[in-house]
Amino acid sequence: MQVRITVSFPYEAPVSQSLFERASVVTPGGVNSPVRAFRAVGGTPRFMVSGAGPYLTDADGREYVDLVCSWGPMILGHSHPEVIAAVQEAVSRGTSFGTPGAGEVELAEEIVARIEPVEQVRLVSSGTEATMSAIRLARGFTGRPKVVKFAGCYHGHVDALLAAAGSGVATFGLPDTPGVTGAQAGDTIVLPYNDLEAVRTAFAAHPGEIACVITEASPGNMGVVPPLPGFNQGLKDICSDNGALYISDEVMTGFRVSKSGWYGIDGVRPDLMTFGKVMGGGFPAAAFGGRADVMAHLAPAGPVYQAGTLSGNPIATAAGVAQLRLLDDAAYEKVDAVSAELRALVTEALAKEGVAHRLQVAGNMFSVFFTGADVTNYDEAKAQESFRFTAFFHSMLAQGVYLPPSAFESWFVSTAHDTQAVERIAAALPAAARAAAEATE
Ligand code: PLP
Repeated sequence: MQVRITVSFPYEAPVSQSLFERASVVTPGGVNSPVRAFRAVGGTPRFMVSGAGPYLTDADGREYVDLVCSWGPMILGHSHPEVIAAVQEAVSRGTSFGTPGAGEVELAEEIVARIEPVEQVRLVSSGTEATMSAIRLARGFTGRPKVVKFAGCYHGHVDALLAAAGSGVATFGLPDTPGVTGAQAGDTIVLPYNDLEAVRTAFAAHPGEIACVITEASPGNMGVVPPLPGFNQGLKDICSDNGALYISDEVMTGFRVSKSGWYGIDGVRPDLMTFGKVMGGGFPAAAFGGRADVMAHLAPAGPVYQAGTLSGNPIATAAGVAQLRLLDDAAYEKVDAVSAELRALVTEALAKEGVAHRLQVAGNMFSVFFTGADVTNYDEAKAQESFRFTAFFHSMLAQGVYLPPSAFESWFVSTAHDTQAVERIAAALPAAARAAAEATE
């Protein structure tokens, strides 16, 4: 869908523009992860040079209140002094050994202590690796081929899971991606989110064939679409009744929406879980873990192979341990409070301009859907008037507020979002709401 942007662009970004042009020569689309290219909203992606607390500064010297927080990880804000100190200390001892190290034990212990269903955990370097490995393990453990996932849930760019995925795939409206073969995706069953009947029907149609159901613990990749009451428990029960594993992907929600992630909110006990983002403190660290009897099937303890040159990297684990240790109850109270304050401000501004919208929430994660109806699945998410988001986004950007450059992403806040940052957002909202109201397709 071609969108006419109705806001003017009272801002220039010549240095970002020139970096983008250079980047586009040497990198496909000029970016290393598609959503960064601003294609869903148009305009010049901002090349950031530094971050401090709730602020990012771009290559043109403009400062923004950051509501992306590196897509979740920066829950303490940018350049938190204690995380930086831990990283500097770790760097001074060397950057990678390719051997076991104390930092990875500490990070694993921190995860196991926080998340009760995780009896053992394996560290990897990205959320994609975590979900890919968890699915391989589930297939190896059960001896079954098929995987159930939900439309609009994004689990990284794992071949088998790039069917009806959200996030960048939602942004670009690609139903699928070239390069994934029928064989790779053929064992993936894609079902509508929040529809337990569809899950029961799938299990009935494929008796003894389904290894696992993987779901975002509370989806944030089609915008924020929380599970309806009883949905996750229903998934868990259906899996248990049918000898399949229930995998809860907490790459986004883990250590963000509570000390023990979404598990800390709904208490549904997964067989396997995946983590990333917050646990790496801004470095590439991720993990999968869960039942010890399942994890025992992983090499070298068991036959299911999984490995990584930089897994448990000492800098990443130092950053992750430092960040997790700072995330006490008070930190989550602060993030929850900032989130609630912003949600109220956004709702007020949009309501004042008569813009139909739904502000959906999962813990401290939230996003705005430009629609008059509640959104419970991907089809409903796609039915929103995303051209209004485009206008809203650019108005906020012009006023120094950096939102996710897509209507299908969660907004993220941090402990560093103080009164001053919130006031700057509040000051920008009326004009952005007006731009959304005036936008036309
Ligand atoms: N799972 C979920 C729920 C995610 O949100 C993401 C990334 O946004 C991933 C997996 C993939 O993580 P990564 O980008 O680190 O590969």
